[in-house]
Amino acid sequence: MSLLQSLGRWLRLDAFPLERYRDRFIARLSMLATLILSPFLVYQLSRQEWLLAAVIVFAQVVMLIDGLAARRGTKPPVPYELAGCALAAAMCVSSWLQGVVALFWAFPIVLVYYMTMRRGTALLLTTLLVLAVGSIAGWNVGAPIAARLVASLVFTAIIAGALLNVIEDQQQALERQAITDALTGAFNRRHFDAELSRLEAGGRAFKESTLLSLDIDHFKRINDTHGHAAGDEVLRRVAEEIVTRKRLDDVLFRTGGEEFMLLLPGTGAEEALILAEALRKLIEQAQLLPEEHVTVSIGVAAHLPGEGLGEWAKRSDAALYEAKRQGRNRVVSAPGASRASSV
Ligand code: GH3
Ligand code: MG
Ligand code: MG
Repeated sequence: MSLLQSLGRWLRLDAFPLERYRDRFIARLSMLATLILSPFLVYQLSRQEWLLAAVIVFAQVVMLIDGLAARRGTKPPVPYELAGCALAAAMCVSSWLQGVVALFWAFPIVLVYYMTMRRGTALLLTTLLVLAVGSIAGWNVGAPIAARLVASLVFTAIIAGALLNVIEDQQQALERQAITDALTGAFNRRHFDAELSRLEAGGRAFKESTLLSLDIDHFKRINDTHGHAAGDEVLRRVAEEIVTRKRLDDVLFRTGGEEFMLLLPGTGAEEALILAEALRKLIEQAQLLPEEHVTVSIGVAAHLPGEGLGEWAKRSDAALYEAKRQGRNRVVSAPGASRASSV
């Protein structure tokens, strides 16, 4: 990864954790801002400051156009980036007409950038805004005030960025939690179904991909003999054994109580059978319980050309049930892709 890419990642230039709230923000903030600006409009009209009044009306109209569109859920007539620039320009014109007091608006403008735009865009617009504010203030009231204005504006942007980082981190943690099985750390059933639907919708080719259905043998007996807590520990250890043996690209799901699915992208039937057999042996020899071997049965199904993903999973499950039927502690390959293999 290049230095520039690393910097971009560190700055989270692509981050936009509030994306799904954006239209709601725009709809409400634009109405509120229009209201807040109204007394200033009345004041400037009463002073017959027509140009300043026009600037305020301009800002209100820009916000209202997009605000109403956001309320209706339609595409913003003025792209948000352009609207952001228009607001900054209105503030600059206003400060040119009446002095640095207008620059106070830079603070809420920066916050609106961070709340409604991708981080990279917000950063770019904020940089331009800070440069404009610094130049206008420096020109009008001198370097000491300009420096303080710039510093406090930059600090405001940093705080906004930090708050958004926390929101993004929490969002990711929650999303991860929602798709992860707490006991084993594998992905859960919901994610398995979602992944299959997502891959199917994306029309991805599954050439040379294989699904493994794995079920712990006589697990009910393990629970009954050693207790539920010991059963949980066996589940955790089985997942651990699979994770240590699988490749990085292979994805493990806990799809039921003591059932797992292992998706092997880019792996054909022959290779998958070798892995399945290695997993079976690994678990049998892992000494997961004192004086007792825990065993698993595994069904293997290589994806067939044109096969639906639901069908694929069903074939893999059918192979697992066949392994159970044949006596457990074995690997069975689904017919149609490769010769059946049993231990
Ligand atoms: P088979 O060899 O045919 O797979 O038999 P089995 O006993 O493994 O299968 P069965 O479906 O009869 O029993 C599964 C058991 O798994 C029953 C259920 O109480 C237990 N179980 C399901 N989820 C959990 C869990 O999270 N923790 C523990 N300890 N047990 C669980
Ligand atoms: Mg079982
Ligand atoms: Mg089962």
